Amino acid sequence: MALGDFVIGLGSNLGSHLGARSENLCAGLGAIGSLVGVQVLATSSVFETDPIGPPQPRYLNGAVRIASTLGAEALLERLLAIEVACGRVRRVRWGARTLDLDILWASTPVHSPHLTIPHAHLHERAFALAPLLEVAPELGALYAPMLAALGGEPSRVGRLSMAVQNGHALARFQQSLAI
Ligand code: ADP
Ligand code: MG
Repeated sequence: MALGDFVIGLGSNLGSHLGARSENLCAGLGAIGSLVGVQVLATSSVFETDPIGPPQPRYLNGAVRIASTLGAEALLERLLAIEVACGRVRRVRWGARTLDLDILWASTPVHSPHLTIPHAHLHERAFALAPLLEVAPELGALYAPMLAALGGEPSRVGRLSMAVQNGHALARFQQSLAI
């Protein structure tokens, strides 16, 4: 089966300290890396970003690029299940969440009633554009000017990485030395 190329954005703002939020991102990344039919190609830095919507803690955001035999709809279904498994409860629109997984970009665009790729808000979100450009630098001609117009990169607090041990995907967060 043909491989599709996808970039998934990861975000967490519960709990509020770096450890808990980074653990949520790692849980999400590990779960994505463990999906059947998914191969992790690249992981991004982690950025700390201001929330959009109701008052809530700051977010950690990152991205993972994958090659997958799954179609976009099947991938979204798996991602929503991972959000639920990681404790996400949808209470308030754009409210605080343990883990948010969005398909930011794909090699094949999608426009269906419940799925839009590239993500509909990508161009207005520095927290999505910055990690996307790290894992998909060839998209710079299109997206780098949008990130610049939004004020550039949010602050980098660390990076995500992925290792496979005994057939298990193991996600790690390494905090930047400067913090
Ligand atoms: P947001 O991420 O904008 O805060 P939600 O995570 O609550 O909002 O929204 C999830 C819903 O958005 C999904 O159930 C899905 O139907 C829809 N959606 C549309 N396009 C995408 C996309 N590219 N990635 C993820 N979800 C998407
Ligand atoms: Mg989402």
